Amino acid sequence: MYETKCDVAIIGGGPAGLSAAVAAKKEGAEKVLIIERDVKLGGILQQCIHPGFGLTYFNKELTGPEYAGAFKEEAKKLSVDALLDAMVLSVDGEEKTVTCVCSEYGVTKIHAGSIVLAMGCRERTRAQIQIPGTRPAGVYTAGAAQRLINRQNIVVGKDIVILGSGDIGMIMARRMTLEGCKVHAVVEIMDYLAGLTRNKVQCLDDFGIPLKLSHTVTRIKGNERVEGVYIAEVDENKKPIPETEEFIPCDTLLLSVGLIPENEITRGAEIEISPVTNGPTVNQYMETSKEGIFACGNVVHVNDLVDNVTVESEKAGKYAAKYAKGEMPSRNRTVPSVCGNNVRYICPQTINISGEDEKISLYFRVMAPDTGVFLTASSAGKEIYRKKELRVNPGEMCHVVINAADITGDDVTISVVK
Ligand SMILES: Cc1cc2nc3c(=O)[nH]c(=O)nc-3n(C[C@H](O)[C@H](O)[C@H](O)COP(=O)(O)OP(=O)(O)OC[C@H]3O[C@@H](n4cnc5c(N)ncnc54)[C@H](O)[C@@H]3O)c2cc1C
Repeated sequence: MYETKCDVAIIGGGPAGLSAAVAAKKEGAEKVLIIERDVKLGGILQQCIHPGFGLTYFNKELTGPEYAGAFKEEAKKLSVDALLDAMVLSVDGEEKTVTCVCSEYGVTKIHAGSIVLAMGCRERTRAQIQIPGTRPAGVYTAGAAQRLINRQNIVVGKDIVILGSGDIGMIMARRMTLEGCKVHAVVEIMDYLAGLTRNKVQCLDDFGIPLKLSHTVTRIKGNERVEGVYIAEVDENKKPIPETEEFIPCDTLLLSVGLIPENEITRGAEIEISPVTNGPTVNQYMETSKEGIFACGNVVHVNDLVDNVTVESEKAGKYAAKYAKGEMPSRNRTVPSVCGNNVRYICPQTINISGEDEKISLYFRVMAPDTGVFLTASSAGKEIYRKKELRVNPGEMCHVVINAADITGDDVTISVVK
């Protein structure tokens, strides 16, 4: 078996892995190695040819390949190494080794000072949401259809229905329309939008594509190829109401019904996984429950904006470099971040109180939409943060920044209150 060494090994060369690699180099790690199963770096951004990336990080609007390109350029300048066409099979959290199989060296073992998990996420499929009906051709996940059209120039159909109002679904509604297809409807089971409002405006409203909230696909019709789908309104328990069922003739159904963090390797390394995010639990350094193993990007929690992914991943890269150099902040006391009123999850899940003067960024999602609210943080019964927010939505990540020194209690509770 081929064996090699590095200071920081990064699994996945998407925007998370690239930002972590650049940050690790800037923090002084000598040999930083990205291990990527694709033959190119860039991750999912390679197929996101639409604009909308970099608005907060670069203060300008870029396409996905342009955004990834900026980090690839930086990584090249800083001499970050990359092992491409290399599929990671396992991680040993105690020994800090990564085993992969790659076209260049076959089975390869990498001995690292620290490891960053940046494997992104994958889409939920028809099987996971159990749509009844036949099994014809013409049912795709929205991301797979996006890859086919944007990277391989293959249009998957002409008459489209999209299930799920997540960002990928709405972006694909616009993409298929621009390609000359008819998008009959975007169907969403919840009574609110799953993705960003800006995507509804730019991808649905601007093209007159109907959004059917509180509706779902009840059956697929067709033997060889999809001939149409039945949709129906749902009641408050998300059960279809039979008398509202209608048939939409179409040849393609695109599914945008959620993303699942890619954590088989994480589980194999016995790293703690949050049952809510399905990603590893992390502290403010993006360090997982195993010391020296860090995680960032969609493998931790599904992000709507790549800009947030970059900011979190820079932390993972910085502290992975510090760990490899033996310079981690002291571990004095750990407190959990607790979900208060209308908060579904918080990242990071734990905070290390090192005694240093430190600002802690907490990203979180709400459970239900609301307007005219305050985002608050409290510790030891005392409010330590309060910010007014015009509206909150489960599809859009919220963000608060608190001072570590203000955390005097045994936890920090984040709440969304009127
Ligand atoms: C269709 C779509 C549209 C989007 N539109 C926008 C937008 O307009 N604006 C915006 O800001 N954000 C957008 N996003 C979100 C943004 O693209 C993601 O948040 C970001 O790409 C996540 O980065 P990542 O590095 O965590 O994951 P990814 O980009 O998925 O990268 C993960 C990488 O890990 C590799 N990998 C996985 N497992 C292994 C393994 N075992 N061995 C080796 N390599 C492995 C994968 O091949 C991949 O290259 C969009 C996302 C999608 C899917």
